[in-house]
Amino acid sequence: MTDFGGAIKRSEDYDFAVLGVPYDEKSSFLKGPAKGPRAIREASTSACINAWTETGVDLDAEAVMVDLGDVDARGDYASVSARITEQTARIASKGAVPIVLGGDHSISYPVLKGMAGTYPSLDVLHFDAHPDLYDDLYGDPYSHACPFARVLDDGLAAHLVQVGIRAATGEHRRKAERFGVRMITMRDIEEAAALEFSRPLFISFDVDALDPAFAPGVSHHEPGGLSTREALGILQNVKAEIIGIDVVEVNPDRDPLGITASAAVKIIIETAGKIIADRIGRDPNR
Ligand code: MN
Ligand code: MN
Repeated sequence: MTDFGGAIKRSEDYDFAVLGVPYDEKSSFLKGPAKGPRAIREASTSACINAWTETGVDLDAEAVMVDLGDVDARGDYASVSARITEQTARIASKGAVPIVLGGDHSISYPVLKGMAGTYPSLDVLHFDAHPDLYDDLYGDPYSHACPFARVLDDGLAAHLVQVGIRAATGEHRRKAERFGVRMITMRDIEEAAALEFSRPLFISFDVDALDPAFAPGVSHHEPGGLSTREALGILQNVKAEIIGIDVVEVNPDRDPLGITASAAVKIIIETAGKIIADRIGRDPNR
């Protein structure tokens, strides 16, 4: 069950569509993110949250949000990724905003392929501790450490901005330089306070961008990250038409209190609220 404070409806027409991808075959270290969609839905279905966002939007009254269930994540990578692309494309082609629940980060490449049909030129804002720019990891070009290398190689992002980075290797830095990626590391995080994008913007949010103190339920603990508050501030301040988001790498095996899943729900609710606030001309920074 999914709820998001009562915002989830049954409707053929919608502004937002939740799509789960219970897939973690491309995790390099620990499995677990396949259980992420279920954990995020459970955390969204709590008597302790409502549908109002910090920016004054009532998602229950001012938006239509549906849950389209999970992509069938059985079978080999080629068939799973094709289904991810096809189902994301269907949402985007309706003019709705996909809210994709991972899953490990490998899913973002087929998700962005799905966005490309409707948005042939888009920008990507990528929250992560890791650049995910390896050409391959242990010989696998589709590893969860590689999605943005594939996205750049395929020209699926006109401009890629990464925020929260604190585990960049020499290979990552060279790839970023070659493709004009703007990598905002934690050391320079103030630079992310007021980002602006000229093209439609897709947000890819790896919850390990958050410090393990705020999001312990991830496969790769990398200290020195964002607070949940800092991440929300960056999202609420961004100037862009946001056309989709994925929230990936929630690993419930390391999240016994559901703190990380709750952070994922908060990120989703506030991003949806920001999109509605921008559409109706309400100042999200008020
Ligand atoms: Mn990642
Ligand atoms: Mn990561």
